[in-house]
Amino acid sequence: MVLEIRNVGKAFQSKDGQVVRALSEVSLSVQEGEFVSIIGPSGCGKSTLFNIVGGLLTDHDGKVEVDGMTIQGPHREIGMVFQEESTYPWRSAIRNVELPLEIAGVAAKERRKRAADLIKLVGLEGFEERLPRELSGGMRQRISIARTLAFQPRIMLMDEPFGALDEQTRLLLGDKILQIWQDIRQTTLLITHNITEAVQMSDRVVVMSHRPGRIKQIIEIDLPRPRSSENITDKAFGDYVGMIWRDLREEASMYLTESEAPGAVAKSA
Ligand code: ADP
Ligand code: MG
Repeated sequence: MVLEIRNVGKAFQSKDGQVVRALSEVSLSVQEGEFVSIIGPSGCGKSTLFNIVGGLLTDHDGKVEVDGMTIQGPHREIGMVFQEESTYPWRSAIRNVELPLEIAGVAAKERRKRAADLIKLVGLEGFEERLPRELSGGMRQRISIARTLAFQPRIMLMDEPFGALDEQTRLLLGDKILQIWQDIRQTTLLITHNITEAVQMSDRVVVMSHRPGRIKQIIEIDLPRPRSSENITDKAFGDYVGMIWRDLREEASMYLTESEAPGAVAKSA
């Protein structure tokens, strides 16, 4: 196993002294080359779990191991891609991708070549010299992905990387990620709100419960690969979506009930 998450839990203490249990007893093993999606209601601790796996949050219960080594802080084996854009606006596309190689001290010629290969991998050939502002949101997110891959991480964590994009761009970007995954079999964990996206991409989908986040169910997606957004109209695909939706609906309705409680801020549907 590349990744072992063992009995991980986390409680946050708010300023007024209240304790929020964000995660409880989460255990998950991930194999080399696997694509695993994590889906669950807002606030169920998905990002907290990623921050723990990425070593950004160290004060937690349980243990996370990468290749048998306990994670104790940020480390280069884990590459992270977030929802917020994280390109450097003054660097061209290719120089964004080169940055981690520059920091690692890779010689100029070699890093140019490696960055060019990654740019090609994410389908941005021809856009190397563009600045981020000259590219679309989906393209910028692909630069972030290429830059993260430049580290050659053992595991890539993506926290709602398409969250800010429109539905069409998401689907196309989803296809791109699938294609990349099929090319290099990068071990990947993806947090998403989107059931279709989770089924389309994953070997397994982990459904988390409402706070404190626990693993409610793990669903193996036994659909042939290569897949693309064209498969979403298949019956087997729809069956998986339905199965996950049923699980998730229970959790989501609990969340709604809680936010409708007296004192809670009213939410429009
Ligand atoms: P998700 O990513 O699933 O939406 P999060 O992991 O961001 O959920 O948050 C889980 C819970 O922990 C939420 O109730 C959130 O308010 C709380 N939380 C997250 N980070 C902090 C923090 N740094 N301090 C206090 N509470 C936090
Ligand atoms: Mg989150």
